[in-house]
Amino acid sequence: MRLYTQSMLQDYLDCPRRFQLRYVQNLNWPAPRSTPIIAQEEHEEAGARFHRLVQQYYLGLPQTAIERLASTPDLLRWWKNFLESPYRPPHPFPGARRFTEALLSFPVHAEARLVARFDLVQMDSDGHVLIVDWKTSRKRPHPFSLLQRMQTRLYRFLLVAAGQSWRNGEAIVPSQVEMLYWFAEYPQDPIRFSYSQEEYQRDSEWFPRLIQEIENATVFPATDEERLCRYCAYRSYCARGVRAGSWEEMDEETEAASVFDVNFEQVAEIAF
Ligand code: SF4
Repeated sequence: MRLYTQSMLQDYLDCPRRFQLRYVQNLNWPAPRSTPIIAQEEHEEAGARFHRLVQQYYLGLPQTAIERLASTPDLLRWWKNFLESPYRPPHPFPGARRFTEALLSFPVHAEARLVARFDLVQMDSDGHVLIVDWKTSRKRPHPFSLLQRMQTRLYRFLLVAAGQSWRNGEAIVPSQVEMLYWFAEYPQDPIRFSYSQEEYQRDSEWFPRLIQEIENATVFPATDEERLCRYCAYRSYCARGVRAGSWEEMDEETEAASVFDVNFEQVAEIAF
């Protein structure tokens, strides 16, 4: 059984060669993605810890106990932003069912499944389904670019295609689904996306076609967009530069879309 996550599909769409090096040849992180490495790694680690704090909050641990774990200035600021944000789903919330750090998958065919790990899914008693994704990137991406990302497309699609198992078998219709990206540095400015029957129909046809294309591929060309190589760990395999791009100069799309999700999704990834 092969599992496909949004990171894998995004890699394939961004650069088929990156997909080949990472998932077909299993070459993992041969070079730093950006410099300085320590600042980037510390930020990633803080992002992972913030996700754990929020998960503990929704599991019902006391706020004071969680706050004691917010041990760095970034974490403490994000945690306070989280508590004060009007866009944070309140807890407890009678009538809502919640799933945190939960995996959902859907078979594309007998040998392949789409899979996603959700930060938070809230099912309200009125049928509304809210997907929340916490982002700790320093910059806020443009909504249009986020709408194009595989995460936005796959998460909404998976919820409709397979989420009935989280609602006692009751089907979820696309218009009930909303996805909210909440930014720890921009707590008053989340980005929200609805979903429609037309988009679901489009995705129902598009994802199986994409998987088929990947599984039939015999050549994996390098991207023509060389800007993507600046922050790619495989530069040395492609003669696309030796030096990593500057973390300080990383644009919002690159950072918000790739830096943190990779770590959280690796649990679900397997070799191709
Ligand atoms: S360095 Fe560029 S061409 Fe090579 S895998 Fe990375 S993105 Fe693709």
